[in-house]
Amino acid sequence: EVTVHNAHKWYGSHRVLNGIDLTVPAGQVTVILGPSGSGKSTLLRAVNHLEKLDVGHVSVGGEPIGVRHHRGRLKELGERAILAQRSRIGFVFQNFNLFPHLTVLENVAAAPVATRRATKAQARESALRLLGRVGLAGKADAYPRQLSGGQQQRVAIARALALEPGVILFDEPTSALDPELVGEVLAVIKDLAGGGTTLIVVTHEIAFAREVADTVVFLDGGRILEQGPPEQVLSRPREARTREFLSRVL
Ligand code: ATP
Ligand code: MG
Repeated sequence: EVTVHNAHKWYGSHRVLNGIDLTVPAGQVTVILGPSGSGKSTLLRAVNHLEKLDVGHVSVGGEPIGVRHHRGRLKELGERAILAQRSRIGFVFQNFNLFPHLTVLENVAAAPVATRRATKAQARESALRLLGRVGLAGKADAYPRQLSGGQQQRVAIARALALEPGVILFDEPTSALDPELVGEVLAVIKDLAGGGTTLIVVTHEIAFAREVADTVVFLDGGRILEQGPPEQVLSRPREARTREFLSRVL
């Protein structure tokens, strides 16, 4: 389970998150929609402490992120502890962020070896299995630049899966792709849904949200304007802002 409680964030005098409360039950899929600048990436990045909240807190699987309780107070975690928490939360970026100098297999196997969760041989074996799962077993020895955008993003998903995270965060995973490559990436994400991993997906792919999301959240101006099951938020939105946004992206 992921919970965000009373999240506030400013950049200087610019208010980016304005009191977000959100609960994503374990194993469920939440899709976050909203206009550019509404705070979607900031919210997602706060979940794994890539951004620090000014007010509020996040917990994942019951564990507070970035802080710990110490003698009745909250203390900030050190860098190592934050990295350890982050290793249990997968993150898939818009621009894939693969290591260009590593092969596909090495990209997927790198983190389990670096975190000493697996030997090199074990990591390679499970990387091959994960590459099979995203339909890329044949590309293990290729370099990222030799792959299409859709293939690169599927490698990035396999890499996120390699540490067996309880939660995976996706920030517009198909926005950088040519239209004909979007479907193959969404199919892989859909395949993960219902498999026990908690997914939070920022995307403008409404058909995907309708089909896969348990909950759709509409963010506007750093606030959750409405949330609910997809048939409610996408087909019968209560708020004029949501209707206006949907009419633009559909
Ligand atoms: P998009 O759909 O364009 O990705 P978003 O909903 O993800 O938008 P955020 O990236 O969360 O929006 O940004 C929210 C606001 O915060 C924007 O106005 C943005 O310009 C601002 N912002 C984001 N990061 C920073 C930063 N590091 N410094 C200053 N302002 C920032
Ligand atoms: Mg964004």
